[in-house]
Amino acid sequence: RDLDGLVGSEMCIETVAVQLSPTVSEIADIKTAVSEAVTNAIVHGYEGTRGTVILRASIDGTLLTIEITDKGRGIADIPQAMEPFFTTHPEQERSGMGFAVMQTFMDDLRVTSTPGQGTTVRMKKRILTTPIM
Ligand code: ATP
Ligand code: MG
Repeated sequence: RDLDGLVGSEMCIETVAVQLSPTVSEIADIKTAVSEAVTNAIVHGYEGTRGTVILRASIDGTLLTIEITDKGRGIADIPQAMEPFFTTHPEQERSGMGFAVMQTFMDDLRVTSTPGQGTTVRMKKRILTTPIM
């Protein structure tokens, strides 16, 4: 129920990303990373309450930048949150691998957050465009 927005968010980012002619595998990487960040915004940021998740995507040369922002509870200890297997919700069958997945599939990952105010995840990926023909 709460994750209805996920497919829409992937399509929104894809609209920008396709302008760089990414490969199918690059698109899959981007979708995976975006869906981890949006899922986090919904399940951790807003934790069962309703809220807005803001998506921004931009292109600079061959560099794709994506930002996912929520105005939810925020993260007190960002390095700890980003550690593989760290989760505040083991009881919900969370594995604590979301940030690790984002790190794996994107070239750069930055997290900024203020407890009580929200979180922004900024990810970058270099798309190595090969000219057609
Ligand atoms: P998984 O992604 O494997 O289902 P997870 O979501 O717990 O598990 P991560 O995505 O790596 O793992 O996030 C680690 C922790 O960071 C979360 O358990 C949560 O405490 C915190 N966190 C992540 N994103 C946010 C957010 N947008 N707002 C508040 N807390 C967050
Ligand atoms: Mg997660």
